[in-house]
Amino acid sequence: MFKTILLAYDGSEHAKRAAEVAKAEAEAHGARLIVVHAYEPVPDYLGDPFFEEALKRRLERAEKVLAEVVALTGVPPENALLLEGRPAEAILEAARGERADLVVMGTRGLGAVGSLFLGSQSQKVLAEAPCPVLLVR
Ligand code: ATP
Ligand code: MG
Repeated sequence: MFKTILLAYDGSEHAKRAAEVAKAEAEAHGARLIVVHAYEPVPDYLGDPFFEEALKRRLERAEKVLAEVVALTGVPPENALLLEGRPAEAILEAARGERADLVVMGTRGLGAVGSLFLGSQSQKVLAEAPCPVLLVR
């Protein structure tokens, strides 16, 4: 039923569990698994050389998170997307661009608000995704 599954990953415990579910679902359905990690843009008011330095550090951190999810799921490197932008926007863009027919993500992420039932990025993706969304606790 599912041909392309998109996993959204931020390195959180919920996202790690989502990675397990996404991998198992992809295997069960014989689906292509794509993983996406988004990093927030560096504000350009920082100016040089701080802008370059901040961007470099942010990219390095993002690449580490992406490498982690590649190791967890075993997807080939060409199925691992690193996108700049707000996470929900990036996830939705990847879902549309890759024609995903299932998005898998955590109910919560790295955010500090422990009382939230559903993280803001999950809420936005759930509201706007072009396909079913599987939220993993
Ligand atoms: P908030 O961000 O609203 O403070 P939160 O961090 O607890 O709350 P979300 O950010 O909505 O919750 O995270 C829910 C899920 O969204 C994560 O488990 C992960 O699957 C996905 N996600 C969050 N941030 C990113 C990101 N930068 N890149 C890819 N996926 C992400
Ligand atoms: Mg978050």
